[in-house]
Amino acid sequence: MPTRFLNVGGRAAIELDGLAVDVERASGGRFSSDPMDALRRWNELVEWASRAEADDGSAAVDPASLGPVVPRPSKVFGVALNYRKHAEETGAQVPDQPSVFTKFPNCLTGPTADVVIPSDFVDWEVELVAVIGQGGSRIPESKALEHVAGYCVGQDYSERRVQMAGTRPQFSLAKSYDTFGPIGPALVTLDGFGDPDDVPLWCEVNGERVQDSSTADLIFSVPVLVSYLSDICTLEPGDLIFTGTPSGVGVARTPPRFLAEGDVVVSGIDAIGELRNVVRRRAD
Ligand code: ZN
Repeated sequence: MPTRFLNVGGRAAIELDGLAVDVERASGGRFSSDPMDALRRWNELVEWASRAEADDGSAAVDPASLGPVVPRPSKVFGVALNYRKHAEETGAQVPDQPSVFTKFPNCLTGPTADVVIPSDFVDWEVELVAVIGQGGSRIPESKALEHVAGYCVGQDYSERRVQMAGTRPQFSLAKSYDTFGPIGPALVTLDGFGDPDDVPLWCEVNGERVQDSSTADLIFSVPVLVSYLSDICTLEPGDLIFTGTPSGVGVARTPPRFLAEGDVVVSGIDAIGELRNVVRRRAD
């Protein structure tokens, strides 16, 4: 059975039959309450979780209580133009190597947090996010999934004017405003996915389905990305890879469509769950 790992109010938890079980308490102190510690001992935690049982303090999972499942990663990678149909809708050529940017960790937030937009040019991007468990460098593709703790849902909110500003476009800043990186609701181990190369993902804005795709359309798979990135940067437990967004973003529409105060963005991967973010416009 897959492990579903949670951040409940800043404390590591696992989900069993819809109940949030506090890891430190249920393990009798074997694991600490810090979600980052759990990621550093991921294989041990998953082994413990497979035998864990709900205790008296366990309560139904309350989505509003969930924080970012990885609160303080050392690195958050984003991959641009990694779905064929998305590359086509933006008029870009299909890349021949991964095009990588940074989402700075300040942007991370929980699955039901408000997204605070600074302008009328903010767009949605639902993504499968790979979470590194055991770190490493120069990881071969054939071993890459052994270094992936599991997957969560992510939104790569993007301010499109900042993104394209300057002679070298500012992808990293445009995607790093505070609240622009909700992740969760759970981190699910890879055995929770039927076909790991065909994971459906979707996004709805005010109930209208605007993105509806599958990782079968990915150009660079998770093993390729892990191998490529680890050849340059040593990967550490909890590092995140936002693997790219499929087609259906607002900027590629005619006319373009962006988010506004009060919009509700729901982003989902059925094997994991949903992010639900209400849009709030920052005061000028
Ligand atoms: Zn993206």
